[in-house]
Amino acid sequence: MSTGEYKETEVPALTGIMGRCPRCQKGHLFRGYLQLAQRCEVCGLDYGFADPADGPAFFAMTLAAVPALAFGVWFQTSFGLPLWVHVITTVPLTILCCMALLRPLKGWLVCSQYFHKAEEGSIDREWHAERAKARQREQK
Ligand SMILES: [Zn+2]
Repeated sequence: MSTGEYKETEVPALTGIMGRCPRCQKGHLFRGYLQLAQRCEVCGLDYGFADPADGPAFFAMTLAAVPALAFGVWFQTSFGLPLWVHVITTVPLTILCCMALLRPLKGWLVCSQYFHKAEEGSIDREWHAERAKARQREQK
């Protein structure tokens, strides 16, 4: 299938947050809460290229840490409660914030990978051979 018959995303962040396919913007990106589907059910795009690795977890922890810490400090200074109260309030709040952020962040990163055609680095041996020949010609 060519990409010409689909309206590819121009805003990968928005498409990813909505959990939609970056090529057709109609199919679903996820099979479960965080598990990616193998391919888009509408356009057939294989999601094998998608590898956000620890990116969603890093961003979720970073984004959730500051408000959670602020809440914990405010809660402690306002009420002077014992430590175990934080175990049943601040810790679950932090975990819930992280869980709520993981899916949209993963969708954003996968759609950005598709949009920017990001992939693992590789050595282009033909390009290097051409460059070496060009340098040799310049030195003569
Ligand atoms: Zn699709």
